[in-house]
Amino acid sequence: MGVLSTLKETLQASTQSGNRGDVTEGESKGAYWCHDCDERIRDVDAPGEGPPNCPDCGGEMTFERSVGSTGCAC
Ligand SMILES: [Zn+2]
Repeated sequence: MGVLSTLKETLQASTQSGNRGDVTEGESKGAYWCHDCDERIRDVDAPGEGPPNCPDCGGEMTFERSVGSTGCAC
């Protein structure tokens, strides 16, 4: 079983080195918020570059990084 366990360790190592299977989660760094309207647009869904305008009030939305998967580097 030595080969199998070695192979398993190699797979786990390459997984931890950053190439996650979930593309959507990996590319999304956060979301834009309009706190007045509680509107939320993910950065991957935002058109173009920079903060989009709130579809409700037209104000500039605030970017907030998502906490969780990328919150801790250790
Ligand atoms: Zn708004």
